Amino acid sequence: MYEQSAWFAEIFQARRLFSMNMKISNAKPPHIPPSLPPAPSRRPEDQVTLGEHRQPPLEKATLWQKAVATTGVAATATVVAGLAYGGAFSSMGAGLAVAGSMVGAYFLADISTGLVHHFLDNVDPKKLPGGLARIADDFQNHHDHPRDVVHREFANHTADTQRITTPMLAGLAALAWTLPQLAPLTAGLTVFANCANLAQEFHRRAHMSDAENPALVNLCQKVGLMVPRRLHLQHHGAGHKSHYALLNGATNKILDDVHFRLTPGGVKSNLLRKMEVALYHWQGSEPNNWAETPGLKEQALRGIK
Ligand SMILES: [Zn+2]
Ligand SMILES: [Zn+2]
Repeated sequence: MYEQSAWFAEIFQARRLFSMNMKISNAKPPHIPPSLPPAPSRRPEDQVTLGEHRQPPLEKATLWQKAVATTGVAATATVVAGLAYGGAFSSMGAGLAVAGSMVGAYFLADISTGLVHHFLDNVDPKKLPGGLARIADDFQNHHDHPRDVVHREFANHTADTQRITTPMLAGLAALAWTLPQLAPLTAGLTVFANCANLAQEFHRRAHMSDAENPALVNLCQKVGLMVPRRLHLQHHGAGHKSHYALLNGATNKILDDVHFRLTPGGVKSNLLRKMEVALYHWQGSEPNNWAETPGLKEQALRGIK
């Protein structure tokens, strides 16, 4: 009974204070902005994709870059037509040989992107000739501004690779029509050349959010046909000491987790650490990621137990 009356007294007091407040504030509603900007995401995978708020202008491809990229696509179509005309898919055995070579090339391209990426990230650009130095600068700048690549057109951000792969694909087109017995090799090299370009686009897509990417890209990332965002985040989020493969990321398992000795009693480390030691001796200065990750230098020089 006592509790109930105390409760009514509290309600009464609260109502009295409320009506007093309304009078004091002159019944003017407080100013609330119509819509607040969304708070920056705290999800770790978004720190790479959305964390940076620079909005550089779109880097468009030049007409020449577009022409080189289009020629590469035309050469690839010519390879496919040549392989089909030469009987590469005419029997189960021939088809399987071609398909096996293509799948092998897809994984070989992945590990190759890991090795090239590792070199360009960690080398001292001053030790390289002009064109290569610019590409190394480009890679290292990506660590400071991971979202810049999102604002570049495909033929622009793959231009350096297309300059090599388009002539290569033109040669493969000629090979497909003249030497049909080399079909598995031709098909494998064609996949490899195209994957060298696609890896850079897949990497770009890993820096875009689910909302920015079409549903098909999100699905390919989910099933691992394109390097998943979470996997690539581990490259940027851990001092650039691992996760270098950029096409599908499957071969990171080999690059990061396989530790071996080159000679009996030699240093036991993975291939990346061995490459860093080679770079250290060649350029006379430490690779970039040694400065970023305390203990990485010792790990590379002394190995793991
Ligand atoms: Zn990198
Ligand atoms: Zn990246």
